[in-house]
Amino acid sequence: MQPKPPRCLGSLVAALGTACQSHTIADGPQSNSIPVTQPGVAAAPSPAPTAATEDPTLVPNLDPLQARQLRRKLVAEIAANKDVRSESVLQALRNVPRHLFTNNALLDLSYADHPLPIGYEQTISQPTIVAIMTEALELTGKERVLEIGTGSGYQAAILSLLSRQVFSMELVEDLGQAAKLRLANLGYRNVQVRIGDGYQGWPEEAPFDRILLTAAPPSVPQILLDELTANGILVAPIGRAHGAQSLYRFRKMKSSIEQEELGGVRFVPMIPEKAGY
Ligand code: SAH
Repeated sequence: MQPKPPRCLGSLVAALGTACQSHTIADGPQSNSIPVTQPGVAAAPSPAPTAATEDPTLVPNLDPLQARQLRRKLVAEIAANKDVRSESVLQALRNVPRHLFTNNALLDLSYADHPLPIGYEQTISQPTIVAIMTEALELTGKERVLEIGTGSGYQAAILSLLSRQVFSMELVEDLGQAAKLRLANLGYRNVQVRIGDGYQGWPEEAPFDRILLTAAPPSVPQILLDELTANGILVAPIGRAHGAQSLYRFRKMKSSIEQEELGGVRFVPMIPEKAGY
């Protein structure tokens, strides 16, 4: 598998002064065991009609035709690149209104295949990467999923359409609270957000069938592997903070952990709480 050059949002990311996230996966994960059609994929949830807050996502017509068209175009491009083959994952990307997670007035920016800044030096991941990581989890709709790194809540929203329950942890309180409100207002009811350090796991809700890290630790945290069910899958970017990183899939077997490298990526670092956030 020949790596493509990283699809980093080069100049724009540099101009915005934020961390770049890109990948070099040519063909995506090879084992594609997600069914091609999955009845469990829900339509985009509509905003909760009773939520009485000033959240900007509550304005009428949140998801105009133009946004839906741009989203379909983006997903068609992702599908054409053949990095992602799971129709249920592509459908989830068509259904989640990414522009409502990016704090970005410009629809075009939200629907380019790029990471975008969300504040606190963090980024919402590139849609292709979200799709690749989601596909790598091999979701069937029944799983309890732990996400580390809620950020904007976008990845959690995608996971919520493809699994039973999502538990998402975020270290930066403001980001976590904003994501919690956004997800609730948009009607993603099977997602729980907790402020905390992902390195500590979520023992009260463990074990999890799937765990997804959206920030990169230097090595896979043992606590998180311990919180996986038997036959559980953990997908994570692993590597140095501003150096080489790879996406890995870990499978918990009877007496061992099977490890598979899926390709080069670049993610923001997973920071231990004691480091000062
Ligand atoms: N999944 C997000 C993007 C994640 S960016 C989305 O869809 O928008 C990575 C996130 O991981 C950041 O929000 C960062 O604050 C968070 N993070 C970094 N270290 C963490 C830790 N130890 N525990 C929990 N979250 C962490």
